[in-house]
Amino acid sequence: MSEVSSLCVYCGSSSEVDPQHLGAARETGRQAAERGIEIVFGGGHVGMMGALADGALAAGGRVTGIIPEILMAREVAHGGVSEMIVVDSMHTRKRIMFERSDAFCALPGGMGTLDETFEILTWKQLGLHDKPIVLANLGGYWNTLLAMLEFQTAEGYVRPGQMGLFQVAMQIESIFGALAASPTPKTPGDSERF
Ligand code: AMP
Repeated sequence: MSEVSSLCVYCGSSSEVDPQHLGAARETGRQAAERGIEIVFGGGHVGMMGALADGALAAGGRVTGIIPEILMAREVAHGGVSEMIVVDSMHTRKRIMFERSDAFCALPGGMGTLDETFEILTWKQLGLHDKPIVLANLGGYWNTLLAMLEFQTAEGYVRPGQMGLFQVAMQIESIFGALAASPTPKTPGDSERF
């Protein structure tokens, strides 16, 4: 069983989304804080990202933001987080998000969320890490993505075992259930490889 103390959450930066999703992001932050799990995120005070951080902070949780200097204005760097790490590039952001986190979760998001989620999935596919990854399929948001992956599996491009690289949670509580039930990563602290 895995003891997760820091959870990296990938999620959308747009605020023009279903208010239920914004509520779910706040609730994810709250539930992480209640469990003493630190949130690691992209550092913006916009959209799902901002709601996530606000939810965790309001519940007394620890939140670490990692934001490239060039995005500080566009993504409205959050002024109230426990720690803000300003980095020089998108690549550094992703690397530090990886290093600082025991596990990863994707809430609803856009292209940036897909990029970040698939990078961490493909690093796992290559055996570069063994940390838990949860796709939070809230309200079925990721159903079409899962259908695409099933199609790719049927076509032989995704190997059947690769669908086991991540878990799917239909509810926020199930994210934390999935994390708790995940095996302890075989190579903790393996970030030196990056
Ligand atoms: P989006 O899901 O498109 O709203 O983006 C969510 C977050 O992903 C935002 O903070 C973006 O800055 C970030 N993002 C977008 N593209 C990349 C990338 N190539 N590498 C790292 N972060 C990214």
